[in-house]
Amino acid sequence: MKRVFFASDPAAAGFIQGVLENEGIQCMVKNRLLFGASGELPPTECWPEVWVMEDGDEDRAREIIEAVTAAGEEGPGWTCPGCGEQLDPVFTQCWNCGRERS
Ligand SMILES: [Zn+2]
Repeated sequence: MKRVFFASDPAAAGFIQGVLENEGIQCMVKNRLLFGASGELPPTECWPEVWVMEDGDEDRAREIIEAVTAAGEEGPGWTCPGCGEQLDPVFTQCWNCGRERS
């Protein structure tokens, strides 16, 4: 198994999982249940992580994730004009309703 993504929000991790599964890549989200439950850990220690089951899917999974996020982009988050969801800056598309970032 390989970790290909981690997110500051469980819903964002779930979105990535859904995108990968649509592409036929088996994956799972770790830490979803720990989110917000472990105040003693640094925040990044309990961020949800997306793992691919097959190591051979890692490169393809990363390409797919790059296509739906703007990897490495810094800056403030944005608010979806479609549904009002608060989104991390890495996302180019709303994971809640699918609307493109304007
Ligand atoms: Zn939206």
